Amino acid sequence: MGVALFDTSTPLIALREELRGAIERVLDSERYILGPEVSAFEREFAAYCGAEHGVGVANGTDAITIALRAMGVGPGDEVVVPSFTFYASAEAIPPTGATPVFCDIDPETYCVSTETVRAVLTPRTKAVIAVHLFGNVAPVAEIQALGVAVLEDAAQAAGSLAPDGRRPGALGTAATFSFFPSKNLGAFGDGGMITTSDELLAERARTLRFHGSHDKITYEQVGYNSRLDELQAAILRVQLPHLDGWADGRRQAGRHYKEAGLGELVRLPRALDGASPAWHLYVVAHPEVKRLEGALEDAGIGHKAYYRTPVHRQAAMREWGGDVELPATEQAARMHLAIPMSPVLSREQVDEVVAAVASAG
Ligand SMILES: *Cc1c(COP(=O)(O)O)cnc(C)c1O
Repeated sequence: MGVALFDTSTPLIALREELRGAIERVLDSERYILGPEVSAFEREFAAYCGAEHGVGVANGTDAITIALRAMGVGPGDEVVVPSFTFYASAEAIPPTGATPVFCDIDPETYCVSTETVRAVLTPRTKAVIAVHLFGNVAPVAEIQALGVAVLEDAAQAAGSLAPDGRRPGALGTAATFSFFPSKNLGAFGDGGMITTSDELLAERARTLRFHGSHDKITYEQVGYNSRLDELQAAILRVQLPHLDGWADGRRQAGRHYKEAGLGELVRLPRALDGASPAWHLYVVAHPEVKRLEGALEDAGIGHKAYYRTPVHRQAAMREWGGDVELPATEQAARMHLAIPMSPVLSREQVDEVVAAVASAG
């Protein structure tokens, strides 16, 4: 039958009417930028995460740049970032004037660890970007204990739970989210959010997203035109109450993969001890990944290697990544493969995927 790599549309079918109503509400209001929907969603999403403040921005990449600047990152500073991540985690650093410093990952969680971060800290390190990759949770508290500020890149981790039951978005100094349509909480276009419990930081981010101005009359610093818009906020407000249910669906699909014996065929992703990831992508590893890709292709099973070339090997990062050696990153880049994952992945679909993986031999 075949199984798609992800399914973002089925969960929204039941919400169609409510979504239409929300869109109409915005049309009727004739307020499209920084109005009541964005304010309400900022409050609701921050509360969901357990943070005091939310600042809606245009996308998850701007969210990182603006959050770093609001944390005081600038020219002369170093920002530690993993290389095994979506390119934007690192791309967002140079626009602040700071230098990206690439670190390695834990090969089983695919996230940064205290060891990989400690190895690259210098007196110039101003912040660490802890990416909660694939929905797993990076060990934020342990990294903070090294004496460095942490910005969580939580673009893939909406709905995940950290070991103490807290949520990504409230673990570091600040956190950033993306509402790109395919993420765990997706808009119908681009969108992003910064969450923090530091009021001053939130205020600086609010100013930066609007051209570096408090009052739209005086301009204190060079900022950005980067806002979440009212339509997207209204659409996201309809979906937010369903995020935990969708996250449970993702967790259940992960459990089904284990129960179906997938762990005997390939290496499964390991959750951070005590964490409960809402798997955004379900990424397995196999030394003969080409053979696995072929078998899944033949069976009509969705699969994708997201980060075959790690960020520090990308041409645009040559200046900062050129001579860096990151063995666990290189290995993950070579061996990883995302297989189907969604809130509505059924037991039967899981069995079909596992059978196809088994056929790779
Ligand atoms: C999607 C993503 C981003 C960027 O978000 P956009 O909204 O696409 O700009 C940043 N970091 C990670 C880890 C992501 O997955």
